[in-house]
Amino acid sequence: MRFPELLINTKKIQHNAQVVSTLLGEKGMSLVGVAKGTMCFPPVAFAMLSGGARAIGDSRILNLKRLRESGYQGETVLLRAPGPSECEEACMWADVSLVSTVLTAELLGESARKLGKKHKVVLMIDLGDLREGVLVEDAVQVAKEMSRIKGIEFLGIGTNLACYGGVIPTIEKMNDLLAVKRDIENALGRELVRVSGGNSANMLLVINDQMPRGITELRIGESILLGTEAVKRTKVPGCFQDAFLVRAEVIEVLRKPSKPFGEIGQDAFGHVPHFEDRGIRRRAICAIGRQDIDPDGLTPVQPGITVLGASSDHLLLDVEDAEEEVKVGMILDFLPNYSALLRASTSPFVRKEVVSHVS
Ligand SMILES: *Cc1c(COP(=O)(O)O)cnc(C)c1O
Repeated sequence: MRFPELLINTKKIQHNAQVVSTLLGEKGMSLVGVAKGTMCFPPVAFAMLSGGARAIGDSRILNLKRLRESGYQGETVLLRAPGPSECEEACMWADVSLVSTVLTAELLGESARKLGKKHKVVLMIDLGDLREGVLVEDAVQVAKEMSRIKGIEFLGIGTNLACYGGVIPTIEKMNDLLAVKRDIENALGRELVRVSGGNSANMLLVINDQMPRGITELRIGESILLGTEAVKRTKVPGCFQDAFLVRAEVIEVLRKPSKPFGEIGQDAFGHVPHFEDRGIRRRAICAIGRQDIDPDGLTPVQPGITVLGASSDHLLLDVEDAEEEVKVGMILDFLPNYSALLRASTSPFVRKEVVSHVS
């Protein structure tokens, strides 16, 4: 066994996907499973599919390519607009792209024609979060231009909230999106088949039965992977919150002062640290660091252990109050948040281990 390890429970992921897809289905929506928190690790994507996801979305073309090469034949959705240099690859590995620029759609159309296919696009509308998307007042014009491009099938519109600006998806925001849909339908003289309403931040609306009818799908990662919604980080009822565990080996346990001694300058990352003096404490170091996880996103499973911080390769823990005495060579378990999961998934130093039973 080599550590650190990311333990991935595909049964729990499948179960969570089932819970989410059923909730969405009751409101007339389908599920796009988003596995980018795991680099679209194929066992995770397939667990989402067997839990009822209609399609798989990812923000990276390479992740979609890997999924295709692992045998997946269903719909792939590229969640981040491809750059002009990537449009050809986007056409090869994605069926649908979320886009906001006419030039991008033109280049996708050109590549699609070259490859003898059609590429589907969803026009992203920025409803205030100020990440991707055109403003509402420009939506109809852009939609008209995109729908005229050869090689492109203009599917409809989408939005993404709560990612940059922290803007919460509300009933009003969803109704704004549906109003844009109607305006575009009037301008094009045809119906739009897709209204992609958002991400795991929309799950509160779903749980509270507040999603307006007309949204056709949500693109959900976090709620399936971690069992939480993304506005208040509350649990999605019926979902597991422990489908992933980060496991690392203890390489030092010593009693030391809790406050560094000597003249204090910058730490390894350019910050001047501050410490509370809690006297002499038992401390442990695990062989995992910022290259592999986000230390602020780790919750120790064993009661009485707290994360003090981390440098690139060392995770520092206070284990004075640990229920079971921590010793060198022990493997400690941590629940990762999204940020820690993302880093563990992308770190080549973290071994991925799949289990498929609910214990
Ligand atoms: C990452 C992403 C999602 C999924 O977000 P979660 O909060 O993990 O559900 C959905 N849509 C877009 C555009 C994304 O980039």
